[in-house]
Amino acid sequence: MPEIKSLYGIKKKIKCIGCSLQKGKINTLNITETKNFNVSQDYETPIPGFLIISSKKHVRGIENFSKKEREEFIELLYNVRVALTRVLKIKNIDIINEEISIERWSHFHVWLFPRYKWTEKFGESIDCVIPSMKFSQKSMRTEKNLKEVKNTAEKLRRYLLQKQQ
Ligand SMILES: [Zn+2]
Repeated sequence: MPEIKSLYGIKKKIKCIGCSLQKGKINTLNITETKNFNVSQDYETPIPGFLIISSKKHVRGIENFSKKEREEFIELLYNVRVALTRVLKIKNIDIINEEISIERWSHFHVWLFPRYKWTEKFGESIDCVIPSMKFSQKSMRTEKNLKEVKNTAEKLRRYLLQKQQ
């Protein structure tokens, strides 16, 4: 069973991360949702604007989506990606879907990883992602940064809400 450590440093063992997120058993910052997907701040990594789009249902991957789910997903991905540019002024985002972890302990999910100036020290390519995550999990759980993560999530939430109206 995987063990997660929340944004706030609380450890928990869970069977399926996706199901636990849906049932509210993992403390996270929700951004928005559609019929089949939700968007939240990464629940372990205190990097502002590091988001996860995950399926509400227990599905493995894109190849398991219906046509309607595919359309819903790409529209949501588009809206969230645009929100990151508009709200955070972030130029570069890595969009990652790792299927092997889904098979073992979660649902379909996509990471939207924002590139900051500080993440450059871990590499200029996709290889910067994991070291940046580990660094932030180890060194960025400060009160000031957690506040920034929360404020960023709130700004994104408001932007996307406004777009829906
Ligand atoms: Zn599940």
